Amino acid sequence: MGNNILDRVRLLFYIYIMEYAVKTLQQAIQHFSDRENCRKFMVFMRWPDGTPRCPYCGATKLSWLEKANVYQCYGDHAKKKFSLKVATIFEDSPIGLDKWLLAMWLLTNNKNGISSYELHRALGVTQKTAWFMLHRIRRAMDSQSFLRMGGPEGGPIEIDETFVGGKSKNMHAVRRNALGSGVKTEHKTVVMGMLERNTRQVRAKVIPNVKRETLQKEIISNIERKSSVYTDGHVGYDGLKVRDFVHETVTHTEEYVRGEVHTQGIENFWSLLKRGLNGTYVAVEPYHLDRYVAEQVFRYNNRATKDNPLTDADRFTLAVSQISGKRLTYAELTGKVGETATN
Ligand SMILES: [Zn+2]
Repeated sequence: MGNNILDRVRLLFYIYIMEYAVKTLQQAIQHFSDRENCRKFMVFMRWPDGTPRCPYCGATKLSWLEKANVYQCYGDHAKKKFSLKVATIFEDSPIGLDKWLLAMWLLTNNKNGISSYELHRALGVTQKTAWFMLHRIRRAMDSQSFLRMGGPEGGPIEIDETFVGGKSKNMHAVRRNALGSGVKTEHKTVVMGMLERNTRQVRAKVIPNVKRETLQKEIISNIERKSSVYTDGHVGYDGLKVRDFVHETVTHTEEYVRGEVHTQGIENFWSLLKRGLNGTYVAVEPYHLDRYVAEQVFRYNNRATKDNPLTDADRFTLAVSQISGKRLTYAELTGKVGETATN
């Protein structure tokens, strides 16, 4: 994760909280119940120079139409009015920013997440709306990096995979039918994870199977060659030395951990993930699992540590800084087409 981004966000938020003092859930509720505060905050997060731009032509000559809660552009194009939700995960949502921002505060800061039922009760929206909101927020929390982890001078990287259970009765009817009859209904989904020990950052995603080519393709695209990698003895990890990694394996049957060579960090992440999945999210379809994984990765990578004392407000702000240029429509979410980002 780019710490530069985090520094920038923290600096910006520092200025913000100095001005408005939003540090707790209660203060967030109070603060964002004011429409003008929502507007200021959104402008601040979307355009760090504080100048809103028309999403269609980029013009900065705009008027704020307070009653309609939209900006008006004077540019020469068809759609002249736009809300602060345009070109973000909130686009086309009738839910107010007050509720959206609170939902983001809750999901980024509750260790085990928040269920759609809990959010429905907390915000007074329907459970279906709450479910959709949570998935969109997870989309914002998904901070994928194109940079590879590790490197010859970097610290070791723990790699492991885990199985997450899902029974066919929990699956959407359409998707269940798509499996066809005669298909074994007990379905486990594989999640692969990598933990860079020096930075304590995790990457995790759903993978189709635990075949060697699948696992090693992920390793090659996420980790620099010559990095030290620790895995268990799964045959899927055989041959990583040939691929120019410094590979050491952990034998789970051995009673003692061999010094530095262990995968306890990533295993700890798995237990956090499963606690959330079992406790808060009772029936997660395999199709949606990637977003729950991204949610847990976000909280894990942005948890408070001695070196990096992040606060609730920091996590919240970081997630809000990632709402732009991402969309998730209801059709995509219900399984019709794949997810897309607008940029
Ligand atoms: Zn314009």
